[in-house]
Amino acid sequence: NMLSCWLSRLCRGFSTPTGRITHLSRGSLSRTLVLSSQRRIPEFSSFVARTNTCGELRSSHLGQEVTLCGWIQYRRQNIFLVLRDFHGLVQVVIPQEESAAAVRKILCEAPVESVVRVSGTVISRPPGQENPKMPTGEIEIKVKTAELLNSCKKLPFEVKDFVKKTEALRLQYRYLDLRSFQMQYNLRLRSQMVMKMREYLCNLHGFVDIETPTLFKRTPGGAKEFVIPSREPGKFYCLPQSPQQFKQLLMVGGLDRYFQVARCYRDEGSRPDRQPEFTQIDIEMSFVDQTGIQRLIEGLLQYSWPSDKDPVVVPFPSLTFAEALASYGTDKPDTRFGMKIIDISDVLRNTEVGFLQDALSKPQGTVKAICISEGTKYLKRKDLESIRKFAADHFNQEVLPVFPKASRNWNSPVAQSILEEQRSGLIRLMEIREDDVVLLTAGEHKKACSVLGKLRLECADLLEARGLVLRDPTLFSFLWVVDFPLFLPKEENPGELESAHHPFTAPHPSDIQLLYTEPEKVRSQHYDLVLNGSEIGGGSIRIHDAELQRYILATLLKEDVKLLSHLLQALDFGAPPHGGIALGLDRLICLVTGAPSIRDVIAFPKSFKGHDLMSNAPDSLPSEELKPYHIQVSWPANSEAEKMFFSTLSSLLP
Ligand code: ASP
Repeated sequence: NMLSCWLSRLCRGFSTPTGRITHLSRGSLSRTLVLSSQRRIPEFSSFVARTNTCGELRSSHLGQEVTLCGWIQYRRQNIFLVLRDFHGLVQVVIPQEESAAAVRKILCEAPVESVVRVSGTVISRPPGQENPKMPTGEIEIKVKTAELLNSCKKLPFEVKDFVKKTEALRLQYRYLDLRSFQMQYNLRLRSQMVMKMREYLCNLHGFVDIETPTLFKRTPGGAKEFVIPSREPGKFYCLPQSPQQFKQLLMVGGLDRYFQVARCYRDEGSRPDRQPEFTQIDIEMSFVDQTGIQRLIEGLLQYSWPSDKDPVVVPFPSLTFAEALASYGTDKPDTRFGMKIIDISDVLRNTEVGFLQDALSKPQGTVKAICISEGTKYLKRKDLESIRKFAADHFNQEVLPVFPKASRNWNSPVAQSILEEQRSGLIRLMEIREDDVVLLTAGEHKKACSVLGKLRLECADLLEARGLVLRDPTLFSFLWVVDFPLFLPKEENPGELESAHHPFTAPHPSDIQLLYTEPEKVRSQHYDLVLNGSEIGGGSIRIHDAELQRYILATLLKEDVKLLSHLLQALDFGAPPHGGIALGLDRLICLVTGAPSIRDVIAFPKSFKGHDLMSNAPDSLPSEELKPYHIQVSWPANSEAEKMFFSTLSSLLP
């Protein structure tokens, strides 16, 4: 029949050194076929010239004849060799007998990180020589045959997780860096979580996985786009900064539930937690409200969460944008610890402290504070000095440390001018205990909150550097932030408005009238998902009314609506109410794995400056090759750039 014909063709295709694998593979193959729908543990050695992985062998395999492929991790006294593959390490005994001289020569002469295939028997290690730290530590391989598959030249760095190397070197030799267990773990965990997400969305909830174009055009109201030349003079594509418009158009097209593991591109220069290209789990649904999207995402994260972590507890708590700003000074609060911002204006109404008095005399003036518990124990005088300096340098804000209950007095003359009744008022309001330090600041609400929000995080880092555990490393603290303003004043021109999320976000139903009178006061149906102080997702219910969309684009945002005529037209043809969200996959995986940077969860990331240090992209092109695109490079007139130009030019010449 068809199946066995396919099977035997596949098996005949194998050429194996031992001639035994064919039989074993056939066994594992048919098992794969039978179990493929409900199987939990993947078959790692199907279709290939090995019987097992290095990392899977245990005492239960004793006596089995195995063939392994792997890299030589290290060799001890020409007696033992440790072989590594993605699954783990296993010890191989190099045969010492005269009759095995050829095998011995191969295994003793191959440099470290050479790739070899060995066949032999799984035997138990002699008593006392077991290694409990190694999962395969009870057994070793008694080798019969060995083959050098490829030898390894001198390496730029050792492939061992504990060997320190600069990130630039790791990125330059990324394929070697990927051999580390850490990178293997990160990328495999990422793959598993994405698989679970697909399963949840498509199989459990009827979503359709649809690809959208990556050659698109410039559109208004979003992040800066990368530009792609075309062969038509003066015409350019742009890489999409997200599939936003396409996913909305899919709803107009009646697809009802869309998702995509989508690559997005933003030309926003270098920022520590960003990459010019990154991946989103992009979602859109018809006939949904904010709660519907939130429950979907909670279920998605719960379902795809790694089983070795504490389970995700749902529903996630939720704060309004205004509450988040007032209590944490940011729209992405780290809710793993307290130290919230408290308004103490009323307590200090009659203060004699100059800058507090000043602030409170103004109409919008407030005094705010955070309480650093056990601050006097962990913070030194010079820490408090640098905190004050930080606030002054970065926020132009004065910050005053006071110690309402401390027996120790640091002779701050200003702090002493806090009156006794104010002191006891503060203690009551802020629940201050012995050894706590309070940081006070004053000014306009948003500014005072922002500076304390930043100091809250700075102090948390400081306290933790001094040994206090403030944020449980196993804790994942999710939070919805809702009721954002629809518009914010433009950064470069505060007289004009820009979208807080993007221009397709619907206003809050109860604020619609304000659109025509005080648009800056309109709240939106935009929600962000925050995890441990990082924004890991954001979305909104969309405008499905063409008239409203046109008004917001043209009148309020002053955008050129012609660029979006396709979308506006589509909304006029019976567009269903719809909404969606996108999760930043790189950042999510980074937090789940505890990796120091999102680059550690991306196989081939760009450097801080957006370069690929391995292949040297972006690279120059000879002007000949630019001709079909009708573009020309105009070199900056500065000598540094010229120097670079000539050095690139000379590297292009043979
Ligand atoms: N397209 C949005 C973004 O990339 C997400 C959304 O609104 O669904 O942030």
